[in-house]
Amino acid sequence: MDIKENDSKLFTPGPLTTSLTVKEAMLHDLGSRDTIFLNIIAHIRGKLLELADVSADEHAAVLVQGSGTYAVEATFSTTIPHQGAKVLIIENGAYGQRMTKICRILNIPHDVISFHETERVQVDLVANKLQSNHYTHVAIIHCETSSGILNPIEEIGQLVYDHGTTKGSTVYIVDSMSAFGAIPVSLRNGHITYIISSANKCIEGVPGFAFVIGKKQHLLTCQGQARSLVLDLYDQYTYMEQSKQFRFTPPTHTILAFKRALDELDQEGGVHGRAKRYEANNKLIREKMKTLGFIELIKPEYQTYIITSYYYPSAPFNFQTFYNKLSEKHQLIYPGKTTETDCFRIGNIGRLFENDMATLAECIKEVCEEMNIELPLTNNTKQ
Ligand SMILES: *Cc1c(COP(=O)(O)O)cnc(C)c1O
Repeated sequence: MDIKENDSKLFTPGPLTTSLTVKEAMLHDLGSRDTIFLNIIAHIRGKLLELADVSADEHAAVLVQGSGTYAVEATFSTTIPHQGAKVLIIENGAYGQRMTKICRILNIPHDVISFHETERVQVDLVANKLQSNHYTHVAIIHCETSSGILNPIEEIGQLVYDHGTTKGSTVYIVDSMSAFGAIPVSLRNGHITYIISSANKCIEGVPGFAFVIGKKQHLLTCQGQARSLVLDLYDQYTYMEQSKQFRFTPPTHTILAFKRALDELDQEGGVHGRAKRYEANNKLIREKMKTLGFIELIKPEYQTYIITSYYYPSAPFNFQTFYNKLSEKHQLIYPGKTTETDCFRIGNIGRLFENDMATLAECIKEVCEEMNIELPLTNNTKQ
């Protein structure tokens, strides 16, 4: 099957639309031990620390081959001791549930505090939960990409810091996959021990590796704990420190693209510059969708500027037809990832600009007309 001459715009949660220059950066074959390549790895690791607003004195960035989930699993696999550990997973959507699944598969003792998939994590309920039990580790999702909710990770971080007999002894793991690089975060203020993201989300690289930024002091206690060979964060870290290399075949082209993507993030004004563009994208599509009569799944006060979920128009509505027709117009949206409601998602991260969002809205309007869906939607009742 031939690839379309013009790539579709990806209004998805990743992989995302990337710049031509990021793609062009991959037009080189480097050896995994090339000095040039090793220097690029070192540069990237340093740059990630800068983005997290920490320094190499206390923190380290570890790159892990694979998609984002590989780094989440590596973090759980490596940083939780075999004896005496108990994890609290705070979840309000599919990505939080995935962390629970990881614990189940790795046989890690855990409790789960769940919130409805359309609700933000509630700080007071988490506080009660922490008071009634002792947890060695607490894990949460930053932006729950399955809905678009932004969770209060710094407030929870303060609770986690105060939890237990010694302040700061509880390990706090944050999956910031779809937020890191576009939503400012302070590891210090959030008392975060490990934060996780990947190459192909808000930093706008291509898929192939993920990364964990963690406290060295803790990471260094994790030798021999990993329940996996390839997902051993400690080994990956110490090997990278000593040799500047990956343990196993590195995603060389992805690393080159990522280096370029980091340069472009700088050019855009860093995290704040990128946040500004994403906020403008998000504002524009939400206004346009509102005009068409689409209703958002998430209350505006919980909603962040990464991705937005919309209820289907009222029945009969065939999402697959809607999706295919948009795809023919080179616009790729995403199905919903919530369990209780029929919805679809529009991401506005990646190399997208306001004119792209306007084009998408125009295409959605045309597709609705082709499907005989009357606009603006009126009886678009919530299912
Ligand atoms: C994208 C994403 C992941 C990782 O998904 P992969 O498909 O493994 O890359 C994990 N958590 C969140 C919140 C995400 O948005």
